[in-house]
Amino acid sequence: MIVSSKILLKKAQERKYAVGAFNTSDLEITKGIVLAGEEMKSPIILQTSEGEIKHGGMEVFFDTLKSFAEEASVPININLDHGKSFEMCKWAIDTGYNSVMIDGSKLELAKNIELTKSVVDYAHSKDVVVEGEIGLVPTPKKGEDVEILKTNPKEAERFVKETGVDFLAVGIGNVHGTYKGEPKLDFGLLQEIKRVVSIPLVLHGGSGISGEDIKKAVSLGICKINVNTELREAFTKTLRESLKDEDVVKPYDVMEPVEEAIEKVVKNKIAIFGSANKI
Ligand SMILES: [Zn+2]
Repeated sequence: MIVSSKILLKKAQERKYAVGAFNTSDLEITKGIVLAGEEMKSPIILQTSEGEIKHGGMEVFFDTLKSFAEEASVPININLDHGKSFEMCKWAIDTGYNSVMIDGSKLELAKNIELTKSVVDYAHSKDVVVEGEIGLVPTPKKGEDVEILKTNPKEAERFVKETGVDFLAVGIGNVHGTYKGEPKLDFGLLQEIKRVVSIPLVLHGGSGISGEDIKKAVSLGICKINVNTELREAFTKTLRESLKDEDVVKPYDVMEPVEEAIEKVVKNKIAIFGSANKI
């Protein structure tokens, strides 16, 4: 069933667990995610980045996601991940997404506030909720050193107040993609942000962070965790294996192990996030 993440994350905040937000760009990934949610009796956020929805086929793929969400036995919210412009967010809102993320984190604060507020105003008029980001969560190339711009609590407070955003993605040492070495989350900073911001907080780059650190972040106020890289890795690794048997020619026989691999990753994440049996 479709349930807004406004409700899903409020419950998560009260009961101190996080809802996993899993990216999808095709049928098998979607099936794996939804099945995992149903088996674990966990709420789920299905999300697509701009690139993923373009690959899937825009409205056609959204309709597929919507059908899965409506039929599912667990609450599902469909989210636009990393909308880069007002126009893209407007497209998603008009198409039927339950929530959108507007990512103005590369802009200077005043411009980020202006862009985010314009999306919030439009989204709220259509009953859609909005995630904003402040403090850049970088996307380094494999093995590359990268400067991490962490969220400034004072700026976060101002950003939330002036934009009216519903959820806030924070930079506390997390990165997108693969971490070089051990990820070091700044829990002190997370506590400082939590003190001045009362809306649910979001952690991007959830792949590769240890279960222990995830649990600590959740206990300190993270309510939504984005997972993409581990799903992509499970997909491509399993597909390579699956294709080795040249006698297997039916596409659905090739893809079945892929779907199972996705399901396994998602179930593991749900167990760590603490969202099992929370429907
Ligand atoms: Zn992200």
